[in-house]
Amino acid sequence: MLHICCAPDATVPLDDLELEGWDIAGYFYGSNIQPKGEYVKRLEALHILMSNHEDIKVIEGEYEPEQWRTHMESLNLIHEPEGGLRCAECFKLQFEAAAQEAVRLGCTHISTSLTISPHKDVNLIIKIGEEIAAKYNLIWLPKIWRKQNGFLRSIKISREMGLYRQNYCGCLPSRASA
Ligand code: SF4
Repeated sequence: MLHICCAPDATVPLDDLELEGWDIAGYFYGSNIQPKGEYVKRLEALHILMSNHEDIKVIEGEYEPEQWRTHMESLNLIHEPEGGLRCAECFKLQFEAAAQEAVRLGCTHISTSLTISPHKDVNLIIKIGEEIAAKYNLIWLPKIWRKQNGFLRSIKISREMGLYRQNYCGCLPSRASA
């Protein structure tokens, strides 16, 4: 199970996992992404990407931005800076949803496209990923996709495919600080 944060970030993981011979499923979360028009643009980019990977099943999570925001507000995290505790909680929500789908589909391993970004704390992502994987009896595949020019490769593939590339992470606080 590959947790997909967005199409550009999933380009290299999908190619490389296919080359390694994995039987892949994908999960796109999206409730962290606002406004709705931005979510739709990213979903459309995912559909374009997946037209090149027709044998891979991608599950789209329900779009529930109000629940995402209410959850962050209940933990008093909404005003945290990007890269702080709000993001750690956001990763948990995303991985938890992907892990539940992984169990439903009978997957053995789980990973995320998030580690292609040079802006993300990969150690934190791996730590949270391993915790969520263990909770669901899955094995976390600790891929750091940005290694070996992964990020540059993702930009090149995205350009070639004409994929929409966002200029902020996803939530409204990240949009305001971009
Ligand atoms: S900045 Fe990105 S990872 Fe952090 S809370 Fe917002 S959407 Fe989630």
